[in-house]
Amino acid sequence: MTSLDDLAGVGVDRRGGFARHGFTGVDLELRAWFTGEAERRGLGVETDRNGNAWAWWGEPGEGAVVTGSHLDSVPGGGAFDGPLGVVAALNAVDLLRTKQFTPAKPLAVVVFVEEEGGRFGSACLGSRLMTGAIAPEKALALKDLDGTTLAEAARACGVDPGRVGRDEEALRRIGTFVELHVEQGRGLVDLGAAVGVASSILAHGRWRFRFRGEGNHAGATPMADRRDPMLAAAATVLAARTAATGGARATVGRLLPVPGGTNVIAAAVDLWLDARAHDTARTRAVVHAVTEAASRAARDEGCTVEVTEESYGDTVHFDPALRDDLAATLGGVPALPTGAGHDAGVLAAHTRTAMLFVRNPTGVSHAPEEFAEAADCAAGTEALADVLAHLAR
Ligand SMILES: [Zn+2]
Repeated sequence: MTSLDDLAGVGVDRRGGFARHGFTGVDLELRAWFTGEAERRGLGVETDRNGNAWAWWGEPGEGAVVTGSHLDSVPGGGAFDGPLGVVAALNAVDLLRTKQFTPAKPLAVVVFVEEEGGRFGSACLGSRLMTGAIAPEKALALKDLDGTTLAEAARACGVDPGRVGRDEEALRRIGTFVELHVEQGRGLVDLGAAVGVASSILAHGRWRFRFRGEGNHAGATPMADRRDPMLAAAATVLAARTAATGGARATVGRLLPVPGGTNVIAAAVDLWLDARAHDTARTRAVVHAVTEAASRAARDEGCTVEVTEESYGDTVHFDPALRDDLAATLGGVPALPTGAGHDAGVLAAHTRTAMLFVRNPTGVSHAPEEFAEAADCAAGTEALADVLAHLAR
């Protein structure tokens, strides 16, 4: 058996929780752990062109049943988001072997790289590169806060930037993909179920707002003479709250004043908007309303604003037949939607894809307090094993 506790000391964020980002030293530590766990089970490990790690039970081949998740985290993330799906996958292999099950189809456990976008600002990089949902040249030029490009970071971790991009071979091999994940909400608590299947993912995207004003002295500049981009940014944060109505969500969780000094009026402010809603039209309407408010506030303050879409993904409806089949296989577990993005959401456009959720007693996620009871994690592992056995017969 593998335990989440194995990873408790890896990539600890000294502000709380974990900071595990793709193509870093911590990523290499996580990969080494995964490789060790896979090899201990006699699984064949390989890294694909985009830096995703695969562990194969049997010969790699087409029509494979693939499960897995990611090991990276958001800054200050919890222990379960991502790693639970990888640990459950490895333990499900053990469980199937205990039951003397031998898959008739190839079976693989995958770890997608940089799912959260915590380092380069763009989510699901591993799966979006593999499927061609993001152009390699666009991805490779992404920079982290230190100015390191994805190309440089990937090369440093042994991934050749020249080979990054849509991977026909990897895609052809996936017959069905099932990702187990801690629920990021309280849906299963309300339904009184330890495990459920996913029905849909909200449309979601990220936009960068760059406000420019005039850097100046906090003491020597009269209030009337200021062109302070922080005021426009503040108005935008408030507008996000007002614009997200009717089930939409809008969040500003990251804001960067330049140069960033207590006694300095900022010369510029970068702000990131995360917006989500049931469909593209509603998501676009939220972003439009926030952009209007940002432009107005910038104008009033004598500043400018430039808005860039960094990523966007339409609503995902998971394969209804597969969803119902898996729910029935598990004795009629509930199906529920989620507001969180996943590699499974990216893969759903290319292959038969489903997700299993494990109950989260508080619903808290992307925070150190994220939690799932051991009994529920065990129920999730058993459910995953049942589903894999059903699919790989
Ligand atoms: Zn996740």
